[in-house]
Amino acid sequence: MEFMPAGEIIGDAHQVRTISVTQNSLLPDGEYSFVDMYCTDPECDCRKTMILVIHNGEPVSIINYGWESAKFYKNWMGGNKNNIPTTKMYGASIDITSPDLVSPDGMLALFNRLLNDIWIARFKQHYHEVKAAMSK
Ligand SMILES: [Zn+2]
Repeated sequence: MEFMPAGEIIGDAHQVRTISVTQNSLLPDGEYSFVDMYCTDPECDCRKTMILVIHNGEPVSIINYGWESAKFYKNWMGGNKNNIPTTKMYGASIDITSPDLVSPDGMLALFNRLLNDIWIARFKQHYHEVKAAMSK
């Protein structure tokens, strides 16, 4: 499974979410940008995003987020012919490839606090747009 930033595939339709953090006991102050990336295999129905978090121009964390139910991923893994490692796909978790230059616990807490219906809807939309663009 290869992941690419949505912006590189769907262009201007894509917006990166950037927020400003101050007085967080676990995370350094500053701007945090969340670059959502998607699997580029049009045949793959993984329904998740990998989010690269940039702080002061530097990648500091990678978050996995799957918006479907735990049951969906369990079934999907069962029919998974590519032997993708069965890491936790449901909900949010820090990816094993994350550079962890900021506190993983702090980053996960921030992400979960920011997560809302609007952002989730945007992930789903970008996912479908990326898959549609890749299957052309
Ligand atoms: Zn996939």
